[in-house]
Amino acid sequence: MRSVSLLSPAKLNLFLKVLNKRPDGFHNITTVFERIDLCDVIRLKLNTTGAIRIHCAHPHVPCGPRNLVYRAARMLREDFKVKDGVDIYLKKNIPVAAGLGGGSSNAATALKGLNRLWKLDLSLSRLLPYARRLGSDVSFFMYDCRWALGTGRGDSIKKLAISTKLWHVLVVPCLKLYSGEVYGGLGLREGRMKMLTKRSDNATIFIRRLRQADIAQIGYGLTNDLEDVVLRLSPGVGKLQQRLKSLNTQGVMVSGSGPCVFAIVGTWRQAEAVRAVLARRFRRTFVARTL
Ligand code: ATP
Repeated sequence: MRSVSLLSPAKLNLFLKVLNKRPDGFHNITTVFERIDLCDVIRLKLNTTGAIRIHCAHPHVPCGPRNLVYRAARMLREDFKVKDGVDIYLKKNIPVAAGLGGGSSNAATALKGLNRLWKLDLSLSRLLPYARRLGSDVSFFMYDCRWALGTGRGDSIKKLAISTKLWHVLVVPCLKLYSGEVYGGLGLREGRMKMLTKRSDNATIFIRRLRQADIAQIGYGLTNDLEDVVLRLSPGVGKLQQRLKSLNTQGVMVSGSGPCVFAIVGTWRQAEAVRAVLARRFRRTFVARTL
């Protein structure tokens, strides 16, 4: 095999509770991940020069060692003394730095793809430590699942055998929000447990609703402890949420550390209608479904 093309999907966090700050500076969270069909495309092509080269036209994606995909390739090449190099072509469809986990997904896809291309034959449990070193969200994308519960930094993953599929409208305002700044805005001190969410803050209840596929109940249970901070830092996001709520949607929430805002809707037709309204004001609007 000289080359491989892979889809690299985005995620939404339908439930995200921040528990406390850890000594390593990260936060312990409980989150429910959903894999969605908004995907980047990654092509990995073997080269014999030994070089790792990233080719990506997106202006905000670094092509050197700051790219998570580059770092994934370098770690595997060094640890397993791989002689071959790789040319990596990234087609970005997932908005960058939006709370949709695009970079993390790319890193996980690269780990899985290079495992095949470089014939390393590593099991999932041997690849997971690399995923963890690359970032908190990378682990979720290592698993082949629609829904998962994430704990720890969000990197301890339990697959959820749930067949429910949801339709969404996604809107990504043109704002820069840094995850560190958003988590910092919670003002949590090390080790302290603080209850931030007011309503239905139990992941077990949320997962039960998900399993029952009652979209009104799922919409009601959407939770994100980071949302208040995002709204404080970017009040425009609040206005966007109000607009989405007024369009007969079943629940509206910020994904992860934002600024992407998503809504749950009943059908593809409804999703397209809501997207068309929002597209008049926002450049980056998408219809997506659970993958
Ligand atoms: P998360 O939800 O995991 O916090 P995100 O969707 O908010 O992720 P990304 O799209 O992963 O954010 O991008 C975050 C930063 O990572 C960007 O500023 C970008 O420069 C850098 N980056 C590194 N590698 C990649 C990549 N392969 N794709 C996109 N961004 C990347």
